Amino acid sequence: MSDQPQETVDEPFVNEIEVRGLIVGAFQENCWVIGNRRSGEAICIDPGEQADDIVHMASEMGVTIKLIANSHAHLDHVLGVRGVQSDSDAQFLLHEADLDILRGTAESAARLGLTGGMQVEQPPDPDHYIDDAQKVEVDGVELHVIHTPGHTRGSVCFYGHGVLFSGDTLFKQSIGRTDLPGGDYQQEMSSIVDKLLMLPDETIVLPGHMDQTTLAAERAQNPFILQTLAQRGQQPGERRSPGGLILPN
Ligand SMILES: [Zn+2]
Ligand SMILES: [Zn+2]
Repeated sequence: MSDQPQETVDEPFVNEIEVRGLIVGAFQENCWVIGNRRSGEAICIDPGEQADDIVHMASEMGVTIKLIANSHAHLDHVLGVRGVQSDSDAQFLLHEADLDILRGTAESAARLGLTGGMQVEQPPDPDHYIDDAQKVEVDGVELHVIHTPGHTRGSVCFYGHGVLFSGDTLFKQSIGRTDLPGGDYQQEMSSIVDKLLMLPDETIVLPGHMDQTTLAAERAQNPFILQTLAQRGQQPGERRSPGGLILPN
């Protein structure tokens, strides 16, 4: 027996991450809050409307929204930005290529007849721009920005903690539409196949609309992905190109 002092181990670092979603607005958009209950800080993805409900959800989670990180600037994803900011002074992050869409929000809302003749309040300009390979983080939550143009020029996805927030780029069994201004089908499929499919198969996908899925399920069943892979002569399980994506370590 040794009389050496017992070796001690550091307290295990436990990341108490919680993700909750809320379906908001006329377009049934999924707003997500990813928070760390230890630090009490959170990132809100795409506050599309119903800012009060989003803030209430965050307070139920025991977290405060410090950052608003937007997947893109379509109006169904931005109408709650001002309300969430007014509650918590959260910084608003967006890819610069979607600035024109953001600044046209009130006009788009009027054109779509969403306002009943009322003026929709224009969302604020972003506090910071985000781009590929950057990180967005609050205490205890870290997400990597993946620029995924195709649905809009400035569309991005956020990846971290085993979860991909895919905005309107990738949906369960579908993809975001590419027929709106700035949309480009080839670009969208390249974003999905060459970037998103490089992430681990078990990644949970939380999209901007409809149900959650996983990358494994989309790789195996998404008809748009299967068609693109077939056109390229690629097998569904094959990761061919690094696609410029810098994988988080
Ligand atoms: Zn959209
Ligand atoms: Zn949308």
